[in-house]
Amino acid sequence: MSANDAFHIAVLPGDGIGPEVMAPALDVLRRIEATTPGLKFRFTEAAAGAGHYKETGKSMPDSTIKLCEEADAILLGACGLPSVRYPDNTEIMPQVELRFIFDLYAGVRPARLVPGVPSPIVGAAERGIDFVLIRESTEGLFASMGKGVTTHEEARETLVVTRDKTERLFDFSLRLAQRRKKRGKPGRLTLVDKANVFKAFNWQRDILNERKPKFPDVKTDMLYVDACAAMMVRRPWDFDVMVMENMFGDILSDLAAGLIGGLGLAPSADMGDKHAVFQPCHGTAPDIMGQGKANPTAMILSAAMMLDWLGDKHDHPAAADASQRIERAVDAAYASGLKPMELGGNHGTEAIATAVLKALN
Ligand code: ATP
Repeated sequence: MSANDAFHIAVLPGDGIGPEVMAPALDVLRRIEATTPGLKFRFTEAAAGAGHYKETGKSMPDSTIKLCEEADAILLGACGLPSVRYPDNTEIMPQVELRFIFDLYAGVRPARLVPGVPSPIVGAAERGIDFVLIRESTEGLFASMGKGVTTHEEARETLVVTRDKTERLFDFSLRLAQRRKKRGKPGRLTLVDKANVFKAFNWQRDILNERKPKFPDVKTDMLYVDACAAMMVRRPWDFDVMVMENMFGDILSDLAAGLIGGLGLAPSADMGDKHAVFQPCHGTAPDIMGQGKANPTAMILSAAMMLDWLGDKHDHPAAADASQRIERAVDAAYASGLKPMELGGNHGTEAIATAVLKALN
């Protein structure tokens, strides 16, 4: 992409509520494009998910993978339906395949409490919650996926962490803490592990100590995962950036989404060095699909994350600024009394989308 070109975005709406939340996110991006000089998008929609599998027997066509390879970024709604399965009974999950195809090693899960949204945590409304959880997404306990051994007497799964993947993960996390510091955040990275029990995590602690001098303005600390879970519930405002092994991240990222009011508000990204997929934390929500009840906020905030990533990667300040504009518009929409149906209110997809667009003006 050169300075005058449009960012080419691969759009994979997917299944269930995926297309329902994707449409408002694209409307927001189009509005951003119309109001930001020098920022242009070219959207190309492509098939992926359970619907495509039902028609063709493949989770996504080769043309979708080629498009994702060529695009500047990938926006994904949600994929998979409980009623559509492979012969081994597992669900259709092209979003997981994309992680492996494009080596998307950092699962980035921001947990920011939008002012006005109720959190189950006492004091959160006053103190705020604004941290980013980074889940390693290519190894850890998940290195054992499909390789577990079971006999009548025992079952084994093996955790693997490697030096090069740990180094790139820590560099990525330290850099994110550094970027956040420039925006007035504390600039602190917490490594979450179980180093009191497993050697592998002590070995990773040494690697963090080796990497951190490259980022002198970032503070680091280390916390056992069990203590971390308690801290996240008691004092979530104390965290800035957290990084952890795949399985720990799988669990704590759902806890993080719970702290900020639910799945419809939790954006995410799977990032690698070249490619990145931006998608809400939630799944296809078949229980509410086609009813206009889905909250598109997580998808809209995922689109904002995409702009921030593009802005950083291509040194394009207008894209990074547009990301902040979307966040501010979401905050303004909720401050004006928006209450999504998932939080017991009456506002469905259209009302939320309209409120965010109005706030963008
Ligand atoms: P997956 O395994 O794909 O993550 P899941 O069934 O565990 O899927 P979701 O599809 O995310 O999880 O749905 C969990 C619950 O949250 C459902 O009751 C669903 O209706 C609700 N939910 C998820 N996303 C939204 C949203 N954007 N707006 C409103 N409710 C949502």
